[in-house]
Amino acid sequence: MSATAPPLNPTPRVLMGPGPSNVPPRVLQAMALPCIGHLDPDFLRIMDELQKMLRRLFQTRNRLTIPISGTGSAGMETCLVNLIEPGDRCVIGVNGVFGERMSDIVERCGGELVRVEAEWGRAIDPKQVRKALRRGRTKLVGIVHAETSTGVLQPLEEISELTHDAGALLVVDTVTSLGGHPVCVDEWEIDAVYSGTQKCLSCPPGLAPISFGKRAVAALRRRKTKVPSWYLDLTMLQQYWGQERKYHHTAPVNMIYGLYEALRIIEEEGLEARWARHRDNHEALVKGLRGIGLKLLPRPDESLWSLNAVEIPSGADDAAVRRRLLEEFNLEIGGGLGPLKGRVWRVGLMGHSSTKNNVLLFLGALEYVLKTL
Ligand SMILES: *Cc1c(COP(=O)(O)O)cnc(C)c1O
Repeated sequence: MSATAPPLNPTPRVLMGPGPSNVPPRVLQAMALPCIGHLDPDFLRIMDELQKMLRRLFQTRNRLTIPISGTGSAGMETCLVNLIEPGDRCVIGVNGVFGERMSDIVERCGGELVRVEAEWGRAIDPKQVRKALRRGRTKLVGIVHAETSTGVLQPLEEISELTHDAGALLVVDTVTSLGGHPVCVDEWEIDAVYSGTQKCLSCPPGLAPISFGKRAVAALRRRKTKVPSWYLDLTMLQQYWGQERKYHHTAPVNMIYGLYEALRIIEEEGLEARWARHRDNHEALVKGLRGIGLKLLPRPDESLWSLNAVEIPSGADDAAVRRRLLEEFNLEIGGGLGPLKGRVWRVGLMGHSSTKNNVLLFLGALEYVLKTL
């Protein structure tokens, strides 16, 4: 029996799936810096700067803007467990995997779940949201801005207005949009928002930036019951990230370094330039796909720039194509989930992975594999 496991030796890949995206070397180097105490004065300064960068990224003045220790799903759970009390009516837009996941969490919190559905591949219709809001007093509306399972971008402004007219809170999933598409938390009056580091921010998976606005913070203060999750309780977490610096759990110090550097890279590029890059590379991909007779599942006006759901041509072997792209080109793309399994390939152009070179590599490799399969 050998005494030790073999050394780590992962093959470098071109990551063009639904996440994680490729991580710039600068971020990995930042993560290799010395680990210091989570209450070290140096670390406290890093936390303050990180919060300022997160506020600029979310385009918000919200004080309560912090990274949650956990992946994007922990961000989702944080927003919902802190706002929902048993019996609260929650209207959730469901048009893919992540609306389903939100619905599951609502039920686990003891909320009254009201689903507003759309076909997978289409955006949620604001009229349906209005109907659901008319039928009962609602605590919150939960909606996915960028549905990674279908490649659909959800317009938010009309839904935000309807939600606030009904006196409810708007909770938005921006895991696949933040850093790739405009996300304007204050302008769109989003009350609670979450994201993840591993998609358009191009930092490894492990942190979930969140932001709570005034109305959401007030709802948190008004709770009659304790937040059911100890780890994700924002009333305690804000005492660590705020002036008190009160110990809650040990912050994942080196992950925070990684996010810090990823946000610095984003600020150097500039948000507008970054969005334009994501849009241009998406458009180049769509044109190239058209050239080889392929198209996206969502309508052009509802298509994400960061995640492209490509319809699989009839006769192509879904799994075999993905396997050959990985084995012969070191290129990862994603398969379809749920009703879209075997119907779409999910091609991510997120953050550091959204480049012209990657678009051309994917188009060339796909055409080659389809011809030679
Ligand atoms: C990836 C993703 C999540 C979950 O993030 P994890 O990092 O996998 O926990 C949630 N919502 C959306 C829209 C996502 O794309």
